Amino acid sequence: MTTISDNLSHIHQELTAYCQKYQRSTDEITLLCVSKTKPVESILEAYHAGERHFGESYAHEADDKIAAIKEQGYNDIIWHFIGPVQSNKTKIIAACFDIVESVDRIKIAERLNDQRPDGLPALQVLLQVNISDEEQKSGCSFEELPALIEFVQQKPRLKLRGLMGIAKETDDKAEIERSFARLNAEFQKYHAQLADFDMLSIGMTHDMEEAVKCGSTEVRIGTAIFGPREYKKKE
Ligand SMILES: *Cc1c(COP(=O)(O)O)cnc(C)c1O
Repeated sequence: MTTISDNLSHIHQELTAYCQKYQRSTDEITLLCVSKTKPVESILEAYHAGERHFGESYAHEADDKIAAIKEQGYNDIIWHFIGPVQSNKTKIIAACFDIVESVDRIKIAERLNDQRPDGLPALQVLLQVNISDEEQKSGCSFEELPALIEFVQQKPRLKLRGLMGIAKETDDKAEIERSFARLNAEFQKYHAQLADFDMLSIGMTHDMEEAVKCGSTEVRIGTAIFGPREYKKKE
């Protein structure tokens, strides 16, 4: 049986190979370990293998796990929220995460800003753009992006860091690449203008190579680290 730490070394090897192939430097790309639905023990196994960035998608589940892990004295993990943000969950998310990657509308940005507890640093924000041309998927449109960027920039309790996108689930690699390249072009435009706008979160287990090719600075990997997910309860 392969362990989480075996999986992690395999992924780091793959990332290194893709970086060589596409002339990127390995320290330009952060590995975000997507631990949604996985238990605290699995997160700590990845932690002890050297990982510090973890991604969660369900507010209540994450809140419980983060509290349990902090209670055990692990305080140097950077927690990323990557799931759809519902209005009634912004308070929890603003209190227990360092970064929210899935902000896609002004109302959610405003609530996160207002509910970020005093005493914590500004909540880091990525704006999620819908790059998959699928109606019901989360993410703002490219047209809506400028107004959202301007709004988040004005909020004192938020710190705008970049963009996030989820490619369509398809075997058509060229289509995935086109959608990543379009997001990267938009990212580069703002990266050239804005301070600290330096994160492009693209790439999952099945499209990591295309993401590295198209300028990703963070790949969000779940299945390849922790194995397949089982969904038991709905939040
Ligand atoms: C679950 C999830 C991932 C991880 O997906 P894998 O295919 O398991 O690597 C990445 N990004 C987001 C937004 C997710 O919800």
